[in-house]
Amino acid sequence: MNATVLLGPPGAGKGTVAEVLVDKGYVHISTGELLREQIRLETPLGLEAKKLMDQGRFVPDDVVVAMIRNLLESAENDTRFLFDGFPRTLGQAEKLDELIQSLGGSLERVVLLECPDDAIVERLAGRRTCGKCGSVYHVTFNPPSHGNVCDVEGCQLSQRTDDTEKTIRKRLDVYAERTAPLISYYEARNLIQPINANQPIEHVRADVVASIS
Ligand code: ADP
Ligand code: ADP
Repeated sequence: MNATVLLGPPGAGKGTVAEVLVDKGYVHISTGELLREQIRLETPLGLEAKKLMDQGRFVPDDVVVAMIRNLLESAENDTRFLFDGFPRTLGQAEKLDELIQSLGGSLERVVLLECPDDAIVERLAGRRTCGKCGSVYHVTFNPPSHGNVCDVEGCQLSQRTDDTEKTIRKRLDVYAERTAPLISYYEARNLIQPINANQPIEHVRADVVASIS
């Protein structure tokens, strides 16, 4: 297996970029989506995670690492993984290295989506998602074709409970404190491919596709 990591602050466009890479054969793993699935299923893990997520805090490393371990260990050898929102701490990054090594795989690159805070707040405040298929829209920058309805599923879109102004600010602080140090961790290994994410969606997607091919 080999892996690409999508790194960047909340709202930088990781999920939006992932959509086009899935069309290119990548297996998309979003720890946020995996956690929201647990919330929908009302599992004990989901209920615990929801409290933390709605405050903009991280779920403990061992919880997310266990999810990732299960997926990696049950994958075919030739799988190309695309991690979105994982790793988010140095501890998670170290565990990911260990896991990849134990499976004889390689971490190919870390695509860093760079975006200023004011653009992020606007993006997250206008984000709408489909609870069924996970499609991501924006009221202004990427609206659905009809009203507030998912193009794929035809159901009503919703706003994430953590996309409130207060939680967004907290998530940006937590990103700066706990996730931004991953940039130098990966820079030291020459894995970082920076992308200007402060451009229209199609430009960002094209730049990412060009940088990985
Ligand atoms: P965004 O990319 O908009 O920040 P995500 O869907 O990736 O949103 O994550 C939503 C929330 O889920 C995070 O704010 C955090 O509480 C939790 N979460 C997701 N991935 C991780 C992770 N790797 N480690 C800890 N918590 C996580
Ligand atoms: P992340 O996964 O990094 O949290 P998303 O892909 O969910 O980010 O994008 C956050 C919000 O910003 C969504 O509403 C999405 O439609 C919108 N968005 C994503 N990329 C761009 C862009 N380049 N320009 C404007 N809006 C964007």
